[in-house]
Amino acid sequence: MANSRTVLVTGATLGIGKGIASVFAKNGYKVALTARNAEHGAQAEQTLKAVSGNEDVLFVPGDVTSLESMRQVVGTTVETFGSLDVLCANAGMFPSAKLDAMTERQWDEIFDVNVKGMLFSIQAALDALRASVAGRIVITSSITGPVTGFPGWAHYGSTKAAQLGFMRTAAIELARDGITVNAVLPGNIYTEGLQDLGEDYLNSMKASIPMKRLGDVEDIGHAALFFAQETSGYVTAQSLIVDGGQILPETLEAVDA
Ligand code: NAP
Repeated sequence: MANSRTVLVTGATLGIGKGIASVFAKNGYKVALTARNAEHGAQAEQTLKAVSGNEDVLFVPGDVTSLESMRQVVGTTVETFGSLDVLCANAGMFPSAKLDAMTERQWDEIFDVNVKGMLFSIQAALDALRASVAGRIVITSSITGPVTGFPGWAHYGSTKAAQLGFMRTAAIELARDGITVNAVLPGNIYTEGLQDLGEDYLNSMKASIPMKRLGDVEDIGHAALFFAQETSGYVTAQSLIVDGGQILPETLEAVDA
């Protein structure tokens, strides 16, 4: 499926970002992946080329907490593929810290990556997105923060809610450039990181989800692809929950009633 559009996915070497990149690659987009670890980057580039049959997949090392680094990533992307039409601002971290023990450093670090990293990715991409006939920004937020809470994630939930506040003003500022800004809010998605939690824990997570399964990383990719398409140009500042119905039940009993 040929496609003349280019996407840059941040945090694309593992987990949800890799799933987003995979869906775009399978749909013929030219795909630039960025993250810090070059070994994971090379592996992701190779895997995505193989599963999609798309040779236009490129890993470019970068750190979203540095505007200069993100400018270099965008520069390489445009130089290689000729344009940048879609930015998926996905890179994020989610360490746990309960309120009593949470340090200033932990608070600052998670805001640096999840919120400032999103801002720098977008700032670096703006000129290229303005040059596109249909510039698109898709943010990976979460149900945690905007909709739900989880002990240990007060700081994380704050960053994910902050992304939605940012999105609403950014969407107004960029509307006249024809750039849309939307967000996908994943529920519990099965990633490499979750494999260490053990079968019992994963089963208890599945039990609370009406669809009785964790999300697949490509479930998030398909939602991002909807926002990214040229035909979605009248949809902006919207958030799409992709959680298998996880937030719906009033009680755990409701899931099996
Ligand atoms: P993950 O598996 O830990 O992957 C995170 C990715 O981000 C990696 O590629 C990592 O690579 C990259 N990254 C981290 N810090 C970075 C930085 N400073 N600069 C550039 N890249 C960086 O995470 P995930 O579970 O896929 O989560 C991805 C996004 O989805 C996050 O925004 C998260 O909040 C959101 N989310 C996840 C879930 C879930 O169930 N997994 C649910 C809701 C929302 P390097 O370390 O090599 O840089």
